[in-house]
Amino acid sequence: MQRAALILCLCLLLGLLANTIVSSALLARWPSNRQAVGGTPRDDLIGGPWPLPPPGAWSTPWPAPTSWWEWQRFGLRGIDARHVEQRQSRFSMTVMLSGWPLPTHYSQQIWWPGDDPAFAYSGPTHILCHVLPVGMILNPLIFAIFAWTSLFAIPSTLKGYVRHLRATCRLCPYCAYPLGSSPVCTECGKPIPTGSNHPTTSPSVAPPA
Ligand SMILES: [Zn+2]
Repeated sequence: MQRAALILCLCLLLGLLANTIVSSALLARWPSNRQAVGGTPRDDLIGGPWPLPPPGAWSTPWPAPTSWWEWQRFGLRGIDARHVEQRQSRFSMTVMLSGWPLPTHYSQQIWWPGDDPAFAYSGPTHILCHVLPVGMILNPLIFAIFAWTSLFAIPSTLKGYVRHLRATCRLCPYCAYPLGSSPVCTECGKPIPTGSNHPTTSPSVAPPA
C-alpha cells in the first residue's frame, strides 16, 4: 500500500513537471499570427463575450466581437477575435491556450483605439504566459491516475492472478516449480504462502528396522 502511494505521488510530480515544461514551451514557440497558421471562422461566437476579459481596468467596456477565428493543433488552441467597424479592426484580441487534455497556460495580446479617450488605458497589452489553475491541477491528476493504473495497478493485479493460478496447480507462486511438502520452495527458496495447495498428508516413512 505504501509502495502504491509512493508511485502515485511520483506520477503526480512527473505529470506536473511534464505538463508545465511542455505546455509553456509549446506556447512560446507557436505562432500567434492567424495568417501564418490558417484557421476556421466561428460565427456562433460573434456578439458574445471576448475569449478572455481584457487585462486591467478599462474606463469603458469593449464592444462585442464581430469576427472570431480559431485554429488548433495537439495541445494548442489559438483564438483571434475582433470588433470591426467600417472595415477597420478597432478592437482585437489574440489568445493562445496550451496544455492537454485541458489548457494549463495562456498568452493574450490586445489592440484597441488608443487615441479614443473613452478607452484610455495604460496597462499591459501583452500577457506572455499565465497559468490556468483548473488545468494545472487536473492534468497532472489525470496523467498520474493513467500512469499509476498502467504501470502499477494492472501489472500487480495480473501478477497476483498468475500467482493464484500457480498455487491452485500446486506450483510455487513465484517460480512455478512443483511444490513439495516443504514450507519453502525448493527451487527459489521463497516461503510458500499459507493457503497454497500443499499436500494434505506427508508421505509416511517406515522406521528403520
Ligand atoms: Zn519457487
